[in-house]
Amino acid sequence: MNCPECDAQVAVPEDAIRGEVVSCTGCGASYELVRAQSGGALSLQPAELEQEDWGE
Ligand SMILES: [Zn+2]
Repeated sequence: MNCPECDAQVAVPEDAIRGEVVSCTGCGASYELVRAQSGGALSLQPAELEQEDWGE
């Protein structure tokens, strides 16, 4: 699976389950695994984490 943001490879464990959060090693974004439809393939959705203060 590739990161929607930077297109880097995102490692998804073979036994990953829906709702699991994975991080992109390229840009550091976190994604939640979602299944769009029953029996369908897992896809990435930006994880709804609490907004972090990046100090800007
Ligand atoms: Zn990325």
